[in-house]
Amino acid sequence: HQLDEVTAAMAKWWTTELHQRVIQRALQLHGGYGFMREYAVARDYMDSRVATIFGGTTEIMKEIIGRRLTK
Ligand SMILES: Cc1cc2nc3c(=O)[nH]c(=O)nc-3n(C[C@H](O)[C@H](O)[C@H](O)COP(=O)(O)OP(=O)(O)OC[C@H]3O[C@@H](n4cnc5c(N)ncnc54)[C@H](O)[C@@H]3O)c2cc1C
Repeated sequence: HQLDEVTAAMAKWWTTELHQRVIQRALQLHGGYGFMREYAVARDYMDSRVATIFGGTTEIMKEIIGRRLTK
């Protein structure tokens, strides 16, 4: 009972957007191979993308945090 919804929204926003930045750089590091599905980095690139959408989109996380700021 220690994790409130605003802190959870902050954590979800931060970690999933950070994941996007990390996987973008990892894919770039691998060059063309990074875009081929045979390689783990390409599959992680595809799998990670949905994380900012499901379980509540980043925009909705911002809504939840913003509501607290206006209280
Ligand atoms: C692979 C996958 C698995 C899923 N599993 C589950 C599951 O197990 N259980 C479950 O209940 N749901 C599940 N979902 C649904 C998921 O939670 C929704 O896709 C998510 O909540 C976004 O809703 P939506 O797709 O209707 O997008 P929409 O609500 O139509 O949003 C479209 C875009 O508009 C933006 N937007 C919407 N409203 C606002 C606003 N007020 N302000 C600013 N921007 C806004 C969104 O951020 C998004 O970018 C899953 C989705 C996927 C893709």
